[in-house]
Amino acid sequence: MIGEALELRRLMNNRGLPSLELEAVRDRKLQALIRHAYENVPYYRSLFQSAGLLPDDIRTVKDLQHIPITTKDDLRAAGVERSTAKGIDLAACQVVHTSGTTGKPFAIYLTGRELRRRQLIEFRTLLSIGFRPQDRLAVLGPAQPHAVRFHQRLGFYRSVNIPPTLSLDDQIDQLKRSRPTILWAYPTVLKALLCRVNYRLDTVVNPRMLITSAEVCDEILKAGIHGNLKTEMFNFYGANEVGRIAAECPAHEGLHVNEDHVILECSNSKYPGEPGISGEAVVTSLTALAQPFIRYRLGDVYKITKKPCSCGSPFPLISSPLGRLDDAVKLPSGKIVSLWPFTFILRKLDRLEQYRIIQESAEHLVVELAFRGDPNKDALVQLRSRFMEHLGEPVRVDIQCVSGFRNDTPKFRSFISKLSIKGDS
Ligand SMILES: [Zn+2]
Repeated sequence: MIGEALELRRLMNNRGLPSLELEAVRDRKLQALIRHAYENVPYYRSLFQSAGLLPDDIRTVKDLQHIPITTKDDLRAAGVERSTAKGIDLAACQVVHTSGTTGKPFAIYLTGRELRRRQLIEFRTLLSIGFRPQDRLAVLGPAQPHAVRFHQRLGFYRSVNIPPTLSLDDQIDQLKRSRPTILWAYPTVLKALLCRVNYRLDTVVNPRMLITSAEVCDEILKAGIHGNLKTEMFNFYGANEVGRIAAECPAHEGLHVNEDHVILECSNSKYPGEPGISGEAVVTSLTALAQPFIRYRLGDVYKITKKPCSCGSPFPLISSPLGRLDDAVKLPSGKIVSLWPFTFILRKLDRLEQYRIIQESAEHLVVELAFRGDPNKDALVQLRSRFMEHLGEPVRVDIQCVSGFRNDTPKFRSFISKLSIKGDS
């Protein structure tokens, strides 16, 4: 307990460091990580050797680009033995499971100490947005409970996990009973809840803050929440592999990367932190040693923000993640088109509750829409032509109105492609 309190103090102090000192902390951790991975993790030793690298070649984040990027498939192919550190007792590790968009399960091993550090980073993130000792936090969405040990042992910062496997009515019942002052929810789960209570979230909860994470909180959902609830919204960004990566601060100018915990790179940038560049997130965990993640491709697309935040935090700013790279439509010519412009077209539709875009083939797209009440027929005709105009190639677009979507998995997929983006259509 005392050790944890001291570690939390160290982590809190990092938030107030001048940028150069924070960079020095980060680079020291990076050097230790690279040496450890080279000496103890067969997968990374082979990877570094294949690139002709020795640990001393990686001194700062700018040297990271020499290391080839690793994907989930690479680690899965390497197997647990080669991708975890020698001497680690895997049976004593905590295992976090993730499936990602591929649906293939992948296990992440953490020592007890690593898990506690993640919990502290999470706690620091909550404190940074204004989590107070008397607050009640309700977490709605993740199948695996959020880390709460530290708060619970303090007897303050109470929190309750409401599993998405409960029926909607039971979720509503638990929310009403826990009367959270802060609600943390997956957008998909929140969307299902909103539909159930006829867009009157205030009849269930009235939190002063609402945190969304794990998926993109689109404008349609934001408008639904703000319809009759005055709550300050925050966006958090993380991944099971590395824990909390970034979080929005009360200045709401972007998300701050936890730079003493992870290094976030953009696949299109020449060096980590190059401003104004958008691309796929590539992450290095500075604190995962049992199963390191070094230049690991996450697939989420985001943009590095140019200016520092007015809150004064030395942690660099990024935009909210914009979705995943595989959320892209493949055209008959082989060109790839991002889905994001389509969500902006969709949000203009009156009373739209939820949408799903299905790519049946390179020449055929189905757009499923669920409305509250009857949709405007003219608007649907216009929508179809705007979609076709935006695609710019001969693609058949079918608009289908559905009575509702079954949210039977915690993560609803608003885009489904029946062809492989990488392979031939
Ligand atoms: Zn800030």
